[in-house]
Amino acid sequence: MDADPIPTFAGASPNDLDALWMPFTANRSFKQAPRMLGRAEGMFYWTPDGREVLDATSGLWCVNAGHGRPEIADAIARTARTLDYAPPFQMGHPLMFQAASRLAEVTPPGLDRIFFTNSGSESADTALKIALAYHRARGEAGRIRLIGRERGYHGINFGGLSVGGIGANRRGFGPLLGNVDHLPHTHDPSRNGFSRGLPAHGAEGADALEHLVALHGADTIAAVIVEPMAGSAGVLPPPVGYLKRLRELCDRHGILLIFDEVITGFGRVGAAFAAERWGVVPDLLTMAKGLTNAAVPMGAVAASETIYRTVVENAPPGIELFHGYTYSGHPLACAAAIATLDIHRDENLAARARASERAWEDAVHSLRDRPNVIDIRNVGLVAGIELRPRDGKPTERAARIMQRCFDDGLLIRTTADIIALSPPLVIETAHIDRIVSTLGDAITAEA
Ligand code: PLP
Repeated sequence: MDADPIPTFAGASPNDLDALWMPFTANRSFKQAPRMLGRAEGMFYWTPDGREVLDATSGLWCVNAGHGRPEIADAIARTARTLDYAPPFQMGHPLMFQAASRLAEVTPPGLDRIFFTNSGSESADTALKIALAYHRARGEAGRIRLIGRERGYHGINFGGLSVGGIGANRRGFGPLLGNVDHLPHTHDPSRNGFSRGLPAHGAEGADALEHLVALHGADTIAAVIVEPMAGSAGVLPPPVGYLKRLRELCDRHGILLIFDEVITGFGRVGAAFAAERWGVVPDLLTMAKGLTNAAVPMGAVAASETIYRTVVENAPPGIELFHGYTYSGHPLACAAAIATLDIHRDENLAARARASERAWEDAVHSLRDRPNVIDIRNVGLVAGIELRPRDGKPTERAARIMQRCFDDGLLIRTTADIIALSPPLVIETAHIDRIVSTLGDAITAEA
């Protein structure tokens, strides 16, 4: 069978680019010099004109099993021909139940009740709403406050934005939710610079929750939401002991703990979830991205048995939680999720990531002496390389390095002046070498 032709966009005129308002993109400069991707397989993209680009970012932290997995494509195609869509409200279809059961097998013990969404942003808002519903159902309707953390990213819907802690994302969008406060971030390069794995210092940062409890009263606080490792704000692994301390404080005050594992899930940190890797189980866990290997948009929230039972069994007859999406548990997404979970199981991708971790760590830290590198941090198959910003021109250095890498056949991601690397978990030594050498040359060239 002939493959479908790949859209090339070769010779695209500016008019061809006008209609699209691109997300989180410098539209004006992109449309002057577009960076296009036309095909993907394994560790690589190819531009429409056939240039190979090694993917050091798993797309956008999401193609954990590598690109173009035929098992996933086949499952999606089969399902599209069998059941294009079924409403998830008051109706069901077998794949959504199967996908939830399969997912519950890999979520941390006790987090076995799965609510499907379509994205990480929707997962964050869903988890926050479930937390509020839980407290109301158990007679503590006064617990309405939501605690996030500086430099946290929980997507861009109003709930996730409100608990999020990235200023540029929040500014300009009004007062956001009023019932929110934030913990301080954990980044402390003066004590933890160039740490390998979890930084040694900073567990006491979790104690800031005690201050918020003293300020607002525990009986007003519903939940704390954190990324176990902050990704989008520049790769900030949790200090040793920090997450355990947060768990203890939440327990002490009857506050739910939510882990946003949209990035850290599905093998990224060398275990199925960060909760498993660092031995701390939250009450709610949000995910997306790697769940379907990004082949179809999908997110999910895993809730504890207690939360599910409290909300469902205390409700009057009828709908228990007034929340859901037209595409919650979409058949194509469920098919992709099941096929993805099969791959993770059969190829033990989390263990594979863990086995590559040391080589990855040594390789990224070899960039330490390149010009303007002020910090390097890593965990699992993630690394953050922080650069000294150019005087008066923050973000410019990293942006130019990103462009240079792309021209040299390497896709990296930058946040402010931090380079974030998160390659597919199927990475091999030769790919690691190529990432470090291409990136190292680009950093030096932009000195
Ligand atoms: N939460 C975290 C931790 C993320 O990293 C992201 C996206 O990068 C999101 C939520 C939002 O996910 P989405 O872009 O699918 O809405």
